[in-house]
Amino acid sequence: MPAEIISGKDVAKAIRAELKEEVAELKEKHGIVPGLATVLVGEDPASISYVTAKNKTCKDLGMNSKQHTLPADTSEEDLLKLVDELNNDDAVNGILVQLPLPKHIDEAKVLYAIDPDKDVDGFHPVNVGRLVIGEERFPPCTPAGIQELIVRSGTPTEGAEVVVVGRSNIVGKPISIMLLQKKAGANATVTVCHTRTKNIAEHTKRADILIVAAGFPKAVTAEMVKPGATVIDVGVNRVGEKPSKKDPNKMVAILEGDVDFEAVKEVAAKITPVPGGVGPMTITMLLKNTVKAAKLKL
Ligand code: NAP
Repeated sequence: MPAEIISGKDVAKAIRAELKEEVAELKEKHGIVPGLATVLVGEDPASISYVTAKNKTCKDLGMNSKQHTLPADTSEEDLLKLVDELNNDDAVNGILVQLPLPKHIDEAKVLYAIDPDKDVDGFHPVNVGRLVIGEERFPPCTPAGIQELIVRSGTPTEGAEVVVVGRSNIVGKPISIMLLQKKAGANATVTVCHTRTKNIAEHTKRADILIVAAGFPKAVTAEMVKPGATVIDVGVNRVGEKPSKKDPNKMVAILEGDVDFEAVKEVAAKITPVPGGVGPMTITMLLKNTVKAAKLKL
């Protein structure tokens, strides 16, 4: 029987409905409207569309959002000055600096300048440290979305063999740490694979939960998956272009994940699609972190 599809779109919709209620309650009981400040440097089309979507979703949920758009030749000093202003602005609960930044700006310097209590992306070393010791404040958005998909799809994590393919700072490392914590929705036995791992299939075939963030199509094929596993495909690979359904004169990207979806869905019990799996969760978790940041003020 083909695997059950875990719809990130549906899970994201459910979480956004919960957030909308939380936002309304914060406003009614405490007069607080959570506010997100987004900072975009330059005109990279993908970054513009990500930032636009983040601001729009904020507004849909009744939150405030303000986009700060700076020219590509903005100096590091001016960007740091803006971050400082946002750190000191009481109406701003969360700050998101859209990556990548132009090459002349030191990304780490900018991200580390953000007040950790407004770091809704969860990239500041203070928040990474909190995550590692099990006192997380702002879990990074993509791993937080992955954990929600696992839990809300009814996949047990306690005692489960989890295998993560990929060890990046934004996906592989944080999700492996989150799932091994001594907590509900975690308590798993976690193995992390990377390019130096010997015989990856030997590991992936043991996984009750297989999380793939390797960065190329078909990194995981059907022979690498244990029958009945839950497979979370984090990858987003642009493999071509096709005419848009809404406007056939416009071309849109054809996206594929890191998992051979058609073959793996015949082996796994549950699987996330690409698109419509992990992707829609990322923005939702950013807004969840922003609401959490606003609640720090209560
Ligand atoms: P990354 O920084 O490129 O890291 C890829 C990781 O995979 C590295 O740790 C690398 O190992 C490992 N790897 C690469 N080839 C491998 C192989 N043949 N066998 C085993 N391990 C291998 O990627 P990332 O930022 O984590 O992103 C991973 C994927 O997720 C990308 O497709 C990205 O577009 C997607 N993504 C999606 C979202 C979303 O919201 N849906 C968010 C973030 C990322 P080494 O460390 O040894 O090099």
